[in-house]
Amino acid sequence: MPLIIITGLPTSGKTSRAKQLHTYLSKRISTVPDTSSPGAPAVSAPPPKYRLHFISDTTQSISRAVYDLSPSQLPAHVRSANASEKDARAAVYAAVKRVLSPRDIVVLDGLNYIKGWRYQLFCEAKNVSTPSCVLQVGCAVDRARAVNEARLERRQRRREGQGGQQNGNEDAAEKRRSEGAGQEQNEEDEEPYEPSNWENLVFRYEEPNPMTRWDSPLFTLVWEDDEAQTRQVFDKIWDAIAGEGRKVVKPNQSTVQRDKDPGGDYLYVLERETQDIVKKILERQPDEGGGVIALPRVNNAGAGEAGEELVVELPGKKVGLPQLQRYRRAFVALNRGGIGLEAVGKLAGGRLRESFVGYLNDAFEKDG
Ligand code: ADP
Ligand code: MG
Repeated sequence: MPLIIITGLPTSGKTSRAKQLHTYLSKRISTVPDTSSPGAPAVSAPPPKYRLHFISDTTQSISRAVYDLSPSQLPAHVRSANASEKDARAAVYAAVKRVLSPRDIVVLDGLNYIKGWRYQLFCEAKNVSTPSCVLQVGCAVDRARAVNEARLERRQRRREGQGGQQNGNEDAAEKRRSEGAGQEQNEEDEEPYEPSNWENLVFRYEEPNPMTRWDSPLFTLVWEDDEAQTRQVFDKIWDAIAGEGRKVVKPNQSTVQRDKDPGGDYLYVLERETQDIVKKILERQPDEGGGVIALPRVNNAGAGEAGEELVVELPGKKVGLPQLQRYRRAFVALNRGGIGLEAVGKLAGGRLRESFVGYLNDAFEKDG
């Protein structure tokens, strides 16, 4: 599969749930019957049908600080406000891509708070013909904040080197809670967020929406959910990714085919498609700048056509029309001659869009 995207507020219990789910899945996987040799004597255990992977900021050595947009945390002269977060996303994306397949189940623990990012992951799963789902970990904001504050205090005490009895007790308390939740956590998982970083992440959080393809199926666990409830939700997740509920996932058809009927001559298509991308970026970028947005691969995609799958990584600051037009004109100038002979022949609007989005991503990256 199967990709399971965990999402939730900072310090809301995501890693605890992700690890419970990992434990649950490893048990389920070991009991999947070996259908390839039904009557075979159980001399040696058959290889399991699925392999299981756990990916998180911790496994990729990503610090909480990458989410921090406050200038004091960053060498501002070298990086844009969210460049480090972008790098972090790229690292996670590469890690997921490396293992994801129809028989590799990936539990992706993390904030995963950007809609466009979840969309990008959904597309990646679809590309390798495997289902994806989202598990939202719900927790009251005040409770999540209290967990972070407790971690900040603990870190403070550790830094002050007080050590001793009280510190030990506190650490033991968190350890007991973690174990009570069924798991041990390591130090990086318990790294606190700076308070402004924490508040900002809550503010920026984009709730999953089960009406969208990329946030569905959507499962939810809240802090109070007990073992029985948790198990029920895990059973449903298993069904969606490996059981009867598992849907057949097909990658999108190549858009080149669809673009065969010409909607005008090449230069007209070049203008039309790049204008449309510029317009959609202006419409969809968030007010505070940054983030990832998804754009349709096909202009005016009709019902049943491949929907949104081009992904634009925006720079830290909001981009304006003059800047976008500048890039667009440069791109048009570069591509007046056509993008590869095949694309020219077929007036491949989809190819042009993809190429322009790639150009913009590079340009935003260089702008930093
Ligand atoms: P996140 O990964 O979202 O930052 P964690 O899973 O690390 O959050 O959880 C934060 C703290 O809250 C840990 O000490 C954990 O043991 C505790 N915790 C998490 N979920 C629950 C729960 N459902 N009930 C009780 N304690 C929990
Ligand atoms: Mg965590």
